[in-house]
Amino acid sequence: MTGLAPAPAYPWPEGKTSAFCFSVDVDAHAPWLWANRDRVPNLLGHHEQRSFGPRVGLPRIASLLASHGIKGSFFVPAIVAEAHPWMLPALLDAGHEVGLHGYFHELVAQVSDDQFTHALEASIQLFKDQTGQAPRGFRSPAWEMTPHMLAECRRLGLYDSSLMGLETPHSVDGVTEVPVSWATDDAIFFKFLGGGGDMAPPLGTDAVMRAWTEELQASRRYGTLMMLTVHDWISGKAVRAQMLDKLLAHVAGAPDIWIATAGQLAGHHRAHAADRDMVQATLPASPLTHPAWKDA
Ligand SMILES: [Zn+2]
Repeated sequence: MTGLAPAPAYPWPEGKTSAFCFSVDVDAHAPWLWANRDRVPNLLGHHEQRSFGPRVGLPRIASLLASHGIKGSFFVPAIVAEAHPWMLPALLDAGHEVGLHGYFHELVAQVSDDQFTHALEASIQLFKDQTGQAPRGFRSPAWEMTPHMLAECRRLGLYDSSLMGLETPHSVDGVTEVPVSWATDDAIFFKFLGGGGDMAPPLGTDAVMRAWTEELQASRRYGTLMMLTVHDWISGKAVRAQMLDKLLAHVAGAPDIWIATAGQLAGHHRAHAADRDMVQATLPASPLTHPAWKDA
C-alpha cells in the first residue's frame, strides 16, 4: 500500500468482483437520550420522531430485505434493545446479524477509556442475556474510534465497522475492519429534527437514488465494498423505503456483487485476506513540535 502501483484486486469470493452490505444503525431514541443525559427534557417531539423507528421503520426495512432475500447487519445500542426486548431475537430469527453500537449511543469524545470499556462489556452482556449468543461486531456511535477502543475490540475478538481508511475489508491495529462511508449513510442526506438546529432541509429521494446508484456503479468498477448505512427512524419512512426497494432490486439483480453481512465480510477477510492491508493506527505528532515550526 505504498507507491503508485494500484493495489491488487481484493479477493472477493469466487465469481464476485465487488461487495454490498446493508447495515442499519438502530439508533431510535438513544442519541436524544444521551445528548440530554444530564436532564431529560419534558418534550415529546424528538422522542416521538425517533420512536417511529422501532414502531414502523424497522419492521418496514426488515420486510423490504426479506422481499429481496437480503440479510442485513443491525447495530443496536443496548439501551434500545433494553427498551424493545423483542428486537434482537426477532432480527436473529429473520436471519440478520445483530452487532454492538454502544450502550447508550455514548460518544467517544464524551467518555473516558474506563467508561467506554464498562459500557462495552455491559452491552455484550445484555446481548447475551437477550439472545443467548455473543455479538461478533462493533460499530461506534458517530463512527469515531480511539486506540483504546481498537485494543478493546481486539481483546474481545470483535470486528469493527466504524472507520474508512480503505474501501475494502482490512485490519487496523490487528482488528478486522469492515469500512463505512459517509456518502452511503442516509443521515447526511435525510436527517432533519426541526427546532432550527438543522443545516439544510432533507434531500428528496431522486437526488439520493442518483448518488447511491453512482456509488454502486463505481463500487462494481473498482471492486470495492459498498457499505450502505441507514437508520430505522430515517429510512424507515415510506418514501425512503420505496427508494431503497429500487436500489435493492439493482443490487440483487447484479450477479457480480457479493451481498454479505458485515460479519460475513469480516469472516471472509480473516479466512482469505488476513495477510493484506494491515494498517497501524499511529497518530502523527503535533505540527507545533516539528522543526519547521517556529513560535512567534
Ligand atoms: Zn448511531
